[in-house]
Amino acid sequence: MIVAPSGAGKSSLVNALLADDASLKLSLSTTTRSPRPGEIDGKDYRFVGKEQFLREREKGHFLEWAEVHGHFYGTSKPWIESQMQSGSDVILEIDWQGAQQIRKLIQPAYYQATKYEFSPESGSPSTAGLSIKLLVSTSSF
Ligand code: 5GP
Repeated sequence: MIVAPSGAGKSSLVNALLADDASLKLSLSTTTRSPRPGEIDGKDYRFVGKEQFLREREKGHFLEWAEVHGHFYGTSKPWIESQMQSGSDVILEIDWQGAQQIRKLIQPAYYQATKYEFSPESGSPSTAGLSIKLLVSTSSF
């Protein structure tokens, strides 16, 4: 999980991690904001309308979600599950609100503030059927 304020360099860190380890995948977030020039639906984000986002949220589709600058963002539970079932570890690049929700899901929470490649000694913690390994936290949210 990569959490830091806007402009702190999350994307650079993520790109370095992805280049370093082929088994890592970056979570494809769903958002209600419009695509910026050059952004591609299904690659940068899954872009949906607000009503669809709220419907999916109602159905429990999101592992976490947040409203940032008036737009909704969420991490798709089914997408994460399918990636992890196919053997990938998933990086979440999310804001502090989402990080707090993930933190509540993972008890006990495992954090390592500065070092890449952190594995809990007892293996991956499992929460609600999801196995989540926290790789890096750039913030003590
Ligand atoms: P941007 O619109 O600039 O791509 O992202 C705005 C903020 O939303 C960034 O801090 C980004 O990390 C955060 N964000 C992107 N996807 C998600 C998500 O799925 N969940 C949460 N909680 N935040 C997200």
